[in-house]
Amino acid sequence: MPSIRTAGFVLAIVATSPAARARAAEPLCPATPPPQPAAWVAHIAQVNHGLGVPADYAAKHNLLPQPEARDLVPVPRDVYGRKVEMVAPAADALKAMFAAAARDGVKLETVSGFRSMDYQTGLIRRKLKKGMTIGKALSINAVPGYSEHQTGCAVDLTTPGVPAADGSFSQSKAFAWLQKHGAEYGFHLSFPPGNQYGYEYEPWHWRYIADSATD
Ligand SMILES: [Zn+2]
Repeated sequence: MPSIRTAGFVLAIVATSPAARARAAEPLCPATPPPQPAAWVAHIAQVNHGLGVPADYAAKHNLLPQPEARDLVPVPRDVYGRKVEMVAPAADALKAMFAAAARDGVKLETVSGFRSMDYQTGLIRRKLKKGMTIGKALSINAVPGYSEHQTGCAVDLTTPGVPAADGSFSQSKAFAWLQKHGAEYGFHLSFPPGNQYGYEYEPWHWRYIADSATD
């Protein structure tokens, strides 16, 4: 059974890595990300330096380095039929929330879930290649290494008739339902108007926080 031996071999290597041990001990989707391993923080700094992100950008925006999710499970496919993934507790909560919304006659749809740091970096590189400034690019995409999407806990949502990642989502029946019931499933709006990060209002972006579900 080579596959079992291979799996055992991989597990043995993972178990010896301090970063992996720290990751395994971290609860998923905490309200605040725990301090990240120095090597990961250095990698994030190096990538952002390469993109031309000012060294003080994260501190200025009150952003903390985020862990990158490893174990992902599927959630309902996005509006284009593409696969969307989140970490298991967030996925379970999302599915329960979608079902509850449906019972209330509200159709929630996913736009985007987990995005790796590499993917996020690629999004920004493409914008820079087209001549966009890094400042403008970062007003559209979160700075790599600090995105909540990298944790597998955040999801962008929409509803039929509303374009993806569009401010008009805030006027929808689906958004009103989320404002009323999202917290019951542990989902919270990350970037309300006037948020501490200085980000634009993102009514579509919701993050699952473990053990935060209200009755
Ligand atoms: Zn988002």
